[in-house]
Amino acid sequence: MVVTTAAAQAKVLVVEDEETLLFTLAHNLRREGYAVLTASRGDDALKLAREKLPDLIVLDVMLPGVDGMQVCRLLRRDTTVPIIMLTALGGEGDRVAGLDTGADDYVPKPFGMRELMARIRALLRRSGPRALPDAGPTLILSGDMEVDRERREVRRGGKILKLKPKEFELLLFFVQHPGRVFSREQILDEVWGYDFYGGPRTVDVHIRWLRQKIEEDPALPVRLRTVRGSGYLFEG
Ligand code: CA
Repeated sequence: MVVTTAAAQAKVLVVEDEETLLFTLAHNLRREGYAVLTASRGDDALKLAREKLPDLIVLDVMLPGVDGMQVCRLLRRDTTVPIIMLTALGGEGDRVAGLDTGADDYVPKPFGMRELMARIRALLRRSGPRALPDAGPTLILSGDMEVDRERREVRRGGKILKLKPKEFELLLFFVQHPGRVFSREQILDEVWGYDFYGGPRTVDVHIRWLRQKIEEDPALPVRLRTVRGSGYLFEG
């Protein structure tokens, strides 16, 4: 029988390329009442972590695709989700390297399942009932614009710009990544994720709408620029 605990709703992402261990971990976590997501590659783990926002990640170091250390480093750019790293490398140096990447805990293989479960519980308790991702500052200033993440408002010269929810998310994404070119595919992935049901023109259409609200002359955009053949770039 599965006992329902305070952690019952927590979502745990397990990243491990050894099939048997992945299966065992997932099985034990489900028995403890967690919702479980699994990945066996580093790149898949990054995608899942961003789309599904797990409450905790159990991350193996040696992985195909992108290794665990790198996954951890990349995740730490935009989230504070608790991360427990698993590794067969037991030396003190590796432990320090693991913690340096921003992992919260480190469990050398082989480990006891009970011990790992205890550490997961402890980390989840520390991070609160729901470890919401820290997506950066609440108020982002960009030129004469103020993007308020909490109130989901954009202000300019004391006035609130009327943006639709998707336009807001699109603008928020761009002001958080100024000066970088993003392809339509990347924008779809980052801003729409699994909500996407439209066609390839969806991004262009939303960009056009957004320009009508943030550009002096939407026909000659200077902030949200088109980079021919590549995608779009936001000037910070
Ligand atoms: Ca491995």
